[in-house]
Amino acid sequence: MNMGTTSASSPLVPPPASADHPVWLRVGTLLDGTSTVPIRNAHIVYDATEILFVGAVDRTPPRELLRDGQIAPDVDAPDATLLPGLIEAHAHLFLEGGELDAEKRAGYLKQDPAALLAAARERLEKLVRLGVTAVRDAGDKDGVGLALSKLYRSASVVAGVADPGPASTRPATSPARLLIPYVESPGAAIHHRGRYGGFMGGALEDFPSLRACVEARVAAGADRIKLIPTGIINFKQGAVTTEPQMTTEEIRELVAAAKSFGRQTFAHASGDAGIERVIGGGVDSVEHGFFVRDDQLARMRDRQTAWVPTFAPVQAQVDHATIVGWDERIVANLRDILDRHAASLVKAQALGVLIVAGSDAGSYGVAHGVGFLRELELMERAGLPALAVINAATGTGANRLAYREKFGRIAPGWQSRFILTRHSPLETVANLRRPGIVIFDGEPYESGANPDVQGL
Ligand SMILES: [Zn+2]
Repeated sequence: MNMGTTSASSPLVPPPASADHPVWLRVGTLLDGTSTVPIRNAHIVYDATEILFVGAVDRTPPRELLRDGQIAPDVDAPDATLLPGLIEAHAHLFLEGGELDAEKRAGYLKQDPAALLAAARERLEKLVRLGVTAVRDAGDKDGVGLALSKLYRSASVVAGVADPGPASTRPATSPARLLIPYVESPGAAIHHRGRYGGFMGGALEDFPSLRACVEARVAAGADRIKLIPTGIINFKQGAVTTEPQMTTEEIRELVAAAKSFGRQTFAHASGDAGIERVIGGGVDSVEHGFFVRDDQLARMRDRQTAWVPTFAPVQAQVDHATIVGWDERIVANLRDILDRHAASLVKAQALGVLIVAGSDAGSYGVAHGVGFLRELELMERAGLPALAVINAATGTGANRLAYREKFGRIAPGWQSRFILTRHSPLETVANLRRPGIVIFDGEPYESGANPDVQGL
């Protein structure tokens, strides 16, 4: 293996793109985020803001999109693959997932919100350099996710990306800007007082009505509404042993309130009884979904309810069983749960369920960024083809989850945020860990084989 092929001097690194300096690439393989087959010998032209042209099978770009006198691509790499930047659809940015020591984890959580925010802020640039260019935060009670979402918006406006305005007023080259992924947050998740979720949520009981609770989240800046209608897996028992905490009627009312404010809903749900209620309640996506039944998957397909299976946190309990203190019997339970989850994922794919990748990063043993890449490997190991995994990490969520911006697909009008690599992720998605180039708003960044994962 020649690691030198992606060094700074490599012809794989495109020049920075700007409004008056579009960049033209030709790649051997293009994965556009939604197609079920790779596109071969594709041309792509983009500026700092958006993709201007995609031409499959050697359809070359029209001259007016290119720079004056340009007759050849800036990068011509028949051995390279281009794919959208990855969307982490379930992460808790306020938590440090890589920390395995229980006492240190508890101590970390005792920090004040400003310290939690500062630690989370440090994670963002590392995420982009790992190829994760968007994060759907899944909730915290201290406003960390909301603050990061605000930070992203202000940084984008400075760089003229989120609201570029007329072309004539855009800067020719982007000013120095913060390198941070798109971040959005539901603020505090919603649960019932005394039930699971207090560390990342706030109680319905704090409000006179369900609608008032949703309204308060929206007023605080929530991009979508996170519900916690069930408990979690009891790892010792290998089952969800508590009754769901919300009724179908409550979920329905919360979903309706969210819709009236133009917000989607996503629901933490494990155990088939709770999953039944969230499907019936009409949420936009089921998070985790351990113990989902095949008939429930079929209804999710029919209702276009997305599924974010989050293998990583349960796999982490197996990987670190000795540190956590699980005996052989419990590890056997965990493996059985993961095997059933894998079978459900394959079934979901066959049925046509909208599968979206999210790692639950921040959970025990699930570091931000690298934990997401691990999640993709676990989905592949479960039996999903590499391209299906990549689509779950890009276009499927981009199409279904109503993000504020257009990322996660390679098509005209979508953002110039993608990954360029000579290590084909179609051979295995594990190749996404290997060196490549992350292009973010037209600016190229090298992603290293040994990223700094401290604090993730
Ligand atoms: Zn979560």
